[in-house]
Amino acid sequence: METLKLAVQKSGRLSEKSLQFIKECGISYAWNKAKLKTQSYNFPLELLFLRDDDIPKYVADGVADIGIIGENVMLEKGKTVGLVEKMGFSRCRLSIAVPQTSEYNGISDLNGKKIATSYPVILQKHLDEQGVTAEIHEISGSVEIAPSIGLADAVCDLVSTGSTLLSNGLKEVEVILRSEAVMIATPGLS
Ligand code: ATP
Ligand code: ZN
Repeated sequence: METLKLAVQKSGRLSEKSLQFIKECGISYAWNKAKLKTQSYNFPLELLFLRDDDIPKYVADGVADIGIIGENVMLEKGKTVGLVEKMGFSRCRLSIAVPQTSEYNGISDLNGKKIATSYPVILQKHLDEQGVTAEIHEISGSVEIAPSIGLADAVCDLVSTGSTLLSNGLKEVEVILRSEAVMIATPGLS
């Protein structure tokens, strides 16, 4: 039987639940964190441990057959992969937040403003749909500090409880995407 290659996040918010899912499927393997891949010993499955951002490309290219990532990453990367199923964990939302002190009456208030985000594709699409013209400033991490250091007027970032926004003096004003972990597959496989 041919070995199925499954890509999961090496270490991060998706890792534990992804590995728990594999365990619940009855798939056993030995792994230590120094290794980037391992073979199951009771199932024709190879596990690849990667950065979540890289998984859509690996799956689109067929290097991995299937992968588990956040829907937010799947949509941002825009790769041609099939959605196999929603996994029901790692739920979060991609939201726009502004400083608690700034007045906000609706999305048109963002016209002409600078928004920092790690999700420029999803944000641009949403702004276009809403007829808003804003400047998107792409940064890869710690997006929440952008307004306090004068880098942006607003942020567009992942939120689960909202406590990170709060502790950075921000308030959530628009939810642009609701996300959870999804299983993706190489085109033609799903
Ligand atoms: P990597 O090192 O693999 O690139 P990362 O730092 O990009 O990791 P994580 O912070 O581990 O990614 O988040 C992985 C995914 O977990 C997100 O893309 C999202 O789908 C989900 N997630 C759930 N809740 C949150 C949250 N509160 N903040 C960020 N991501 C969340
Ligand atoms: Zn990542």
